[in-house]
Amino acid sequence: MDKQPIPVGQASSRRSLQARIVWGSHVVTVGGNAPVRVQSMTNTDTVDVIGTAIQVKELTNAGSEFVRITVNTPEAAEAVPHIREQLDKMGIPTPLVGDFHYNGHRLLTEYPACAEALSKYRINPGNVGKGDKHDKQFAQMIEVANRWSKPVRIGVNWGSLDQELLASFMDINSQRLQPWHPKQVMYEALIESALTSAQRAQDLGMKPEQILLSCKVSDAQDLIAVYRELARISNYPLHLGLTEAGMGTKGAVASAAALSVLLQEGIGDTIRVSLTPAPGESRTQEVVVALEILQALGLRRFMPSVTACPGCGRTTSTTFQELTQQISDYLTQKMPEWRLSYPGVETLKVAVMGCIVNGPGESKHADIGISLPGTGESPAAPVFIDGEKHSTLRGERLTEEFQQLVENYVVQRFGKGIQ
Ligand code: SF4
Repeated sequence: MDKQPIPVGQASSRRSLQARIVWGSHVVTVGGNAPVRVQSMTNTDTVDVIGTAIQVKELTNAGSEFVRITVNTPEAAEAVPHIREQLDKMGIPTPLVGDFHYNGHRLLTEYPACAEALSKYRINPGNVGKGDKHDKQFAQMIEVANRWSKPVRIGVNWGSLDQELLASFMDINSQRLQPWHPKQVMYEALIESALTSAQRAQDLGMKPEQILLSCKVSDAQDLIAVYRELARISNYPLHLGLTEAGMGTKGAVASAAALSVLLQEGIGDTIRVSLTPAPGESRTQEVVVALEILQALGLRRFMPSVTACPGCGRTTSTTFQELTQQISDYLTQKMPEWRLSYPGVETLKVAVMGCIVNGPGESKHADIGISLPGTGESPAAPVFIDGEKHSTLRGERLTEEFQQLVENYVVQRFGKGIQ
């Protein structure tokens, strides 16, 4: 019998409702057939109107499609419409999302200009009040969202999970003949908190497509387990993120590991990478990592990709590393201009390889690739374009000459739109 071909690798897709996050005529759709959206959150004091507006602009320029800001005090609520105004003056239509805890019901009710200037509200059901105040204060926030036709994210977090709900689930569990693992009880409580809140919002007149859900935890395996179940039993758009992912490489890798498993299964309609910036590090790093995750999975394209080998004992000089760095920097620097002039250029694939072992082969798989000479090879670097050998570069101007070939390729291929 003839062998069946191995299916081409691609992420599954999940059918969710589609939410619209709107500012003026600028609409960002989330869920349904929309691409997975990238979002971020500022870490400025919201009262600092200019500082916050500048950071929203930076996050937008990095690729964030909507940006969340903390709204924690009356002063912050007063600042929100001014931040919006500044952004409008700067020509930044990025929708703002208000992050509310404890006093959101009061701030949204008492500061209507804040409620109007925000495009979405994040409500944490674990932080809307205790006992009988909980339902009343939750209802107040939903009523404001309905009045202004704003979507909400019911954003549950295990660090602030409704403790009364968790305690009741633990009680039920203790009476089981075979009690569940405590983690399984916690998963249930997270999901129950999100879904009962969503149902309550609908009972209060909110349309289902106005509701997004998240159930964030800080462990990759827990996140995967919780979101698989959430996706299985609901069709709300899901905001996906590993909360408190940590700093630097650890935070980026943990987020990529957890999010990739779910995104591959079609789970997650918008993502945020919750990185802790190193002192002095730009907040935009969380957006850079989010874009890289989506691009690596082939879900979206934002930037040309540079395929480079890791180098080994055959690359004993730093020439190969330097050229890879220079080409990556060159592409980053050119992209703002290229993006406007050469639509589709973000799909460009460049290869920079260290020696003859995999160099020519990998370069042929790229749109344009260069295979540098490894130790002991003759000092010549063949360039391949669209799978064919194009020329051979050598000498001190090799970097500039290769950059020129890349630029020529971009102009020729993308000058008339996506090919
Ligand atoms: S392509 Fe050559 S230099 Fe690069 S890792 Fe492979 S063997 Fe080493």
